[in-house]
Amino acid sequence: MAEVLVYVDHVDGAVRKPTLELLTLARRIGEPVAVALGSGAGGTAATLAEHGAVKVLTHEAAEYADYLVVPKVDALQAAHEAVSPAAVLVPSSAEGKEIAARLALRIGSGIITDAVDLEAGDEGPVATQSVFAAAYTTRSRVSKGTPVITVKPNSAAVEPAPAAGAVEALSVSFSEKATGTKVTARTPRESTGRPELTEAAIVVSGGRGVNGAENFAVIEALADSLGAAVGASRAAVDAGWYPHTNQVGQTGKSVSPQLYIAAGISGAIQHRAGMQTSKTIVAINKDAEAPIFELVDYGVVGDLFDVVPQLTEEIRTRKG
Ligand code: FAD
Repeated sequence: MAEVLVYVDHVDGAVRKPTLELLTLARRIGEPVAVALGSGAGGTAATLAEHGAVKVLTHEAAEYADYLVVPKVDALQAAHEAVSPAAVLVPSSAEGKEIAARLALRIGSGIITDAVDLEAGDEGPVATQSVFAAAYTTRSRVSKGTPVITVKPNSAAVEPAPAAGAVEALSVSFSEKATGTKVTARTPRESTGRPELTEAAIVVSGGRGVNGAENFAVIEALADSLGAAVGASRAAVDAGWYPHTNQVGQTGKSVSPQLYIAAGISGAIQHRAGMQTSKTIVAINKDAEAPIFELVDYGVVGDLFDVVPQLTEEIRTRKG
C-alpha cells in the first residue's frame, strides 16, 4: 500500500487536533507516515500510532525553533526523498501553507490548499475545496508530481486506529537557506484558558449587536459556562471590540464545532463561510428577519442582553 506523509503540528510533543484529522484522511489514501520535527518530536509517537501512523519519522534540532519555516521544508523534502509517498498532507495553518507551498516548488509538484475533504481516486487523491464564500465546492486532483495538499481544521473526525508507529530518525541536512531568517523574539499571547477557536467543540460568537468591547464579557461568560471558545464577526473585530485572531469567516478562521452560538450576528455570507459546517447552529438576534435564521437549528428572537445572561445562568445551575 502506498505511503502518505503527514506533517505533524505539535507543541513540545503534544500533537494538535488538526494533525489527528489528517491521519484519518491519510488512511483513505494509503498508510500514514508521520513527520515530527523539533523539540519533543519523539514524544508525539504514541499519540500518532494510536491514530494510524505506521511510522513516525522524527528529527530534533534547534534550527526548527530558531529559524522560520525553511528548516522544516528541508526536513519534509528529506522525508519525501526517503519515502516516495503517494501524497504529502499538511495542516492548513499559515505556517503549514507556507511549508507546503515551498515543498511543492522544490519537488516540482502541484499543490492544493485549504481542502475540506479528501478521498482516493483512480489517478491520485481527490481534494474538495469550498470556494466563493462556500457558495461552491470544487473537486481537484494534482496532475504533476506528488500531490501536496493542505487541509483545513475540522475537515475530518479524529478516529483512533492503532498502528505500529515505529519511530525512525530522519536524516536531514539543512540547506544554506535554512538559517536565512532568524526568530529574534517570541511573545506568547496571554492565555485565556479557553480552547483554540478552530479546535473547540463549542464556539460562542458575538457580532455588531454586542455593541462594545466591554459587552463581550456577556459572550465570554456564556462561553466559559460551556467550556467554549469565543468567536467574533468581522464587524465586531473591525470596531476593535475583539481581536482578529478570533474572527470567524471568509477572512477569519473556519470553525466546524459541534455547537456554534451566534449572538448579535446577522449572518452575512462571508460570516457563514467560516461556520456553516458547524453541526448544530443556534442564533440569538432581535431581528426575526435576520438572514442567520435561514441556517440555524435553533433560533431565539430576542435581545442578546436578556437572553445570553439567562442562558449562562441556566447552564451554570444545571452544571451545579
Ligand atoms: P451586522 O450585519 O450589522 O449584524 C448585527 C446583527 O445584530 C443584526 O442582525 C441585528 O439585528 C443584531 N442585533 C443588534 N443588537 C442586538 C441585540 N441587542 N440583541 C440581539 N441581536 C442584536 N464578516 C465576518 O463575520 N467574517 C469575515 O471573515 C468576513 N470577511 C469579509 C470579507 C469581505 C471581502 C467582505 C466584503 C466582507 C467580509 N465580512 C466578514 C463582513 C460581512 O459582510 C458582514 O459585514 C459582517 O459579517 C457583519 O457582521 P455582524 O453580523 O456582526 O453585523
